Amino acid sequence: MFQAFLIKYGEIGIKGKNRHLFEDALVRQIKYALKPVEGEFLISKEQGRIYIEASEGYDYDEALESLRHVFGIVGICPVALTEDEGFGKLAEDVVSYLAKRYPDKHMTFKVNTRRARKTYPMPSMEVNAALGEKILGAFPEMSVDVHNPDILVNVEIRGKIYIYSEIIPGPGGMPVGTNGKGMLLLSGGIDSPVAGYMIAKRGVKIDAVYFHAPPYTSERAKQKVVDLARIVATYTGPIYLKVVNFTDIQMYIYEKCPHDELTIIMRRYMMRIAEYFAKETESLGLITGESIGQVASQTMQSLASTDEVCTMPVYRPLIGFDKQEIVELSKKIGTFETSILPYEDCCTIFVAKHPVTKPNLKVIRRSETHLSEKIDEMVETAIQTAETIIVRGTEEGEA
Ligand code: ATP
Ligand code: MG
Repeated sequence: MFQAFLIKYGEIGIKGKNRHLFEDALVRQIKYALKPVEGEFLISKEQGRIYIEASEGYDYDEALESLRHVFGIVGICPVALTEDEGFGKLAEDVVSYLAKRYPDKHMTFKVNTRRARKTYPMPSMEVNAALGEKILGAFPEMSVDVHNPDILVNVEIRGKIYIYSEIIPGPGGMPVGTNGKGMLLLSGGIDSPVAGYMIAKRGVKIDAVYFHAPPYTSERAKQKVVDLARIVATYTGPIYLKVVNFTDIQMYIYEKCPHDELTIIMRRYMMRIAEYFAKETESLGLITGESIGQVASQTMQSLASTDEVCTMPVYRPLIGFDKQEIVELSKKIGTFETSILPYEDCCTIFVAKHPVTKPNLKVIRRSETHLSEKIDEMVETAIQTAETIIVRGTEEGEA
């Protein structure tokens, strides 16, 4: 019954001169989101609104679901579109819209007409009153409440006439691509996909890096990360995922450094390599799924020691979240089921029984000097041999 969507957006409406940049980014992300959906979509921008006209036979549910993934959208209004063929026809269309949309008519309503086309022969107030009367005539169970109606019947008169009464919440935030790019350290866990989602929600485009340790971590573990990236990409647009072979570095650290410092030192090398790729691809910061105190490597001291090796800002959007709150978010965005698949993680393979929880920077630096003979070359090799996978919301391919 719906032939179009009216898209409402919030924050980007207040951006002054930059407004058109934000709107263009939003239109671009909407196009990307609708690409895999069955049907053709015509997207237009007019007076602070975005309209999406759909071809006949398009998949409504899929289109709606895709739009719910576009940051910057505050509300999605499914619209019944009709040609302007006089008031009599309009009244019929509004009545038939309500008949189909609301099987139970025991409700209050108010008509809200917006005459964007000023040549329309009736003023808005008159249209409101006349339509109200027609609706009451057709559905005696309904009544008018101008202050707090159950439904607001919106009638927008433009080239065509738009009828809608429903606002489905969008994800909010800002369109991806309006706030630079960040490099996400993406593991197969619950946290990092959520962290990527949260930063992307602020308009940041996301690239990602995953460290694996074959043969200690399997192909399935890697595929799980690609699958997570694909879910995140339904919100962010295509993600360039670097897959780094971390085995030799991990083994070397294991061989040369005290075992209770393994995790910290390993994480410092992950950050260094991630930052290398971030610089190479013009990301402006690193993103991790860490939260204070969640595990030994996420105490304030541990976080400080991983920060020390980075020159770029490290964004940790989950820093103050409890695990349960992160789990809820991951369920909401659709990554949870994949995250809990039981494949091994490279960090857990070499972990010590009693890792240091309050690493002393001087001690860690001294331990790292034990690596000086070969580590630079190993890092170089890890960078050179990294594989790049372009992950899209619907498919993936080799770069
Ligand atoms: P997650 O659920 O995101 O894996 P976690 O609670 O398991 O987090 P850690 O394993 O300590 O926490 O990792 C902390 C952060 O470091 C992760 O959120 C992620 O950003 C990054 N990270 C950890 N392991 C990897 C990996 N193998 N590849 C890329 N990034 C990683
Ligand atoms: Mg993890």
